[in-house]
Amino acid sequence: MMADKTVKRLQANKALRQIIADFYADGHRAKEEGRPVGWIPPMNGLIELFYAMDIHPIFPENWAPICAAIGTNARHFAYAAARGYSGDLCGYFRNNIGYALDGIDEADQPLGGLPRPDFLISFGAGCIPTMKTFQVLCDHYRVPTFRADLPQVAMEDIKEHHIAYGVSQIERLVEFLEELTGRKLDLDRLSRAVACTDEACRLWDEIMDTRRAVPAPFSAAEIGIMFVMVTRHGTPIAVDFLRDVLAEVREKVRKGEGVIPHERLRLFWDNIPLWYNMRLFNYFEKWEAVVVAETYSAAWTMRMDPERPLESIAYKSLVSYPLVSCVSLNKRLELIEKAVRDYRIDGAVLHSNRSCKPISMGQMDIQKMLAEKLSVPSVMFDGDHMDGERFTMAQFQARVDAFMEMLLERK
Ligand code: SF4
Repeated sequence: MMADKTVKRLQANKALRQIIADFYADGHRAKEEGRPVGWIPPMNGLIELFYAMDIHPIFPENWAPICAAIGTNARHFAYAAARGYSGDLCGYFRNNIGYALDGIDEADQPLGGLPRPDFLISFGAGCIPTMKTFQVLCDHYRVPTFRADLPQVAMEDIKEHHIAYGVSQIERLVEFLEELTGRKLDLDRLSRAVACTDEACRLWDEIMDTRRAVPAPFSAAEIGIMFVMVTRHGTPIAVDFLRDVLAEVREKVRKGEGVIPHERLRLFWDNIPLWYNMRLFNYFEKWEAVVVAETYSAAWTMRMDPERPLESIAYKSLVSYPLVSCVSLNKRLELIEKAVRDYRIDGAVLHSNRSCKPISMGQMDIQKMLAEKLSVPSVMFDGDHMDGERFTMAQFQARVDAFMEMLLERK
């Protein structure tokens, strides 16, 4: 029987709850104090620039999982549908448009909701639904808007001229922000912000590496720790938190303490988690199975060079969606193959995500590679990372139960 709430076992979750509350409180405080609040797409180098200039960033794409976890997503979907946006569009898009256009003034929004944007930045390079989100927001809010059109280039094909173009767009953006805030960018502060991100990513990689241990010290049920990788790159907040997480999980490895007393199967998860049903990760535990690696958690890390802060944030912006538009299928297969070997995976669970077509493309090739090259069985189920109406527990159980039994027989 599944518990009602996700079972999380890391002590770090307590600190994480405070970090989440503080992030949104800081946004509201900035608004009250008359400091401009900018809404920006995630996974790019804007965050270091913002923190270096004392501007509080707001990420609609990070807001969406919170709405899904709390349950306000359904009414935001209804608002978006009432305005004519198709239910086939990405759930992040539908949630954020519904919220921003019709839900933003509701008093019962979690964490006090989002502060309204004083300006918007659409930077390019990401997926189409993200760009379209900002197009709709620009039309609606009529606030100063900065647009750039960074190209979508596979990360292995990024050359110096792409980075030089990215730097030129960042220089344009700096002028925009300096005019808006009346403050000059201090390159030393930007360099320190880049150093913080680099250290956060180094710690993140080490934290993920601890899961190579058998038994693994934590499972995908704890993946909410990535909140700091989305919202607090460029700050010591992420570094301090991840240092504590690393100490905690290393201690578990030292003591041989796993997620469950007897770990028999190690699983790989492909695609975004179901934010409204994170306890799904606990479901595997009844077979003494643990999800020890995911494609999604690998998307949030990259090393940066504080000596070249502008180039670093330009590169980060170009590979802003490392799982989506900036990774070729071959590269993705290569990354998954490495993860399967490094984490000693027994089987893979692939979430065919109706919302996110970019990440779901290529999953048949992934299954083929797993079976033919690595002899690792896999199972695919239909779902949606934002919309619980598009996920059927009974179907999931039917597929996964049979799959787990087969994995146990092979063991
Ligand atoms: S990457 Fe996928 S989940 Fe994210 S906004 Fe784009 S389509 Fe939606």
